[in-house]
Amino acid sequence: MNGRRHPVWKRSFLSLEKDLLSWLHENLPASGRHSVGLGDDAAVLGGFDRSGVVVTTDMLTEGVDFLLEEVDPRRVGHKALGVNLSDLAAMAAEPVAVFVSLVLPRQAVGGRAALELAIELYRGMIPLAEKLGVEIAGGDTNSWDGPLAISITALGKTSEQGPLTRGGGRAGDQLLVTGELGGSILGRHLDVQPRVREALLLHEQFELHAGIDISDGLALDVSRLAEASGVGAVLVPGEIPIAAAAKRLGQRDGRSAVDHALGDGEDFELVLAVPPEEAARLLRQQPTEVSITRIGELLESPGLWQEKANGERLPLVAQGYEHWGDE
Ligand SMILES: [Mg+2]
Repeated sequence: MNGRRHPVWKRSFLSLEKDLLSWLHENLPASGRHSVGLGDDAAVLGGFDRSGVVVTTDMLTEGVDFLLEEVDPRRVGHKALGVNLSDLAAMAAEPVAVFVSLVLPRQAVGGRAALELAIELYRGMIPLAEKLGVEIAGGDTNSWDGPLAISITALGKTSEQGPLTRGGGRAGDQLLVTGELGGSILGRHLDVQPRVREALLLHEQFELHAGIDISDGLALDVSRLAEASGVGAVLVPGEIPIAAAAKRLGQRDGRSAVDHALGDGEDFELVLAVPPEEAARLLRQQPTEVSITRIGELLESPGLWQEKANGERLPLVAQGYEHWGDE
C-alpha cells in the first residue's frame, strides 16, 4: 500500500498495452504515476469518506463523434475526458478519478500506429486532468480492425451540499446559464472546458435547486431538467448569450444564431435552476470567471415555452441531438 489510491491497468498480453503502460508510467501526473500498472485486478480509491460517489461514463467513436483524418487526436482525448467531467460538474461533484478504455485500430490512421495514437490521446487528457486535479487511475487497452473507440468512466465525490440533480427545480426558479451557446461544431465541442470549478463554487456559495450540462442542445436539456423537476420551463431567446460561432454558422446555413444556440448542443455549459433571490444575488456578483446569464424560468404549467420580446409565450420545440436518431 503505497499511497492513498492504487490505480491499476488491466493487463493483457498485447505488447501495445505494455508499451503504453510504460509510457503512462513516465507521463501521468505524479499523483497517479507511482502505482500505475501494479498488476492488481482493480483500483482502490480513497477520499470518499463522508461523500457520496458520483459515477458517469461516456464513449466517443471515430466516424460518429470525430474523424481522425481531420482532428488532432490530442483534441479527441481532451474531449473524451472533458465530456465526462462536464457530467460531474452538472452534479456539482468534485472529480476524483477516471478510467480510460481504448479500442485502437490496428491499421495506422492519419499516419499514426496504435501506440502513437494512444499516446496522443493521453497527451490530450493529461493537461485537463492535471488542471482539475483528477487522477487517471486505470483503464483497459485493446486493438481491433475497427475504428477508434474511447470510453471514459469518471468518479467524483459530492460536497457537503450533496449532489446537484436535475430533479430539484421548482416553479419560479430562475434558469441561469454559464458562457455562450451555439455553433460548437465549428471547434468548441472538441475544446470543451468542463465547468467543474464553477459548479463547485456556485454550489457552495448559493442555493441551487437543479442543474444540467448542455450536451444535446439547450432547449432539449432544459426540457429534461424541467421534466425531471415535474414543472415546465420558459426560455427567453432574446436573452440567450450567443457564441460568435453560432453567428458564423448562421451566416453559412441561413438559420438564425438563436436557433443554433437553442439546438446545436455540445456547449458543455451549465444550466442551473436557482430560487429568485439567490439568482439575483448570483447575477449581481458574477462570482465565476465565465459570465452567467438569466435565460428563463421554471413554470407551474408543464411543457417548454419561449417568451417573445413583447412578452407573448409560444410553445418551443425541444430540439436537440437525440442519440438514437435515425440519421
Ligand atoms: Mg449531462
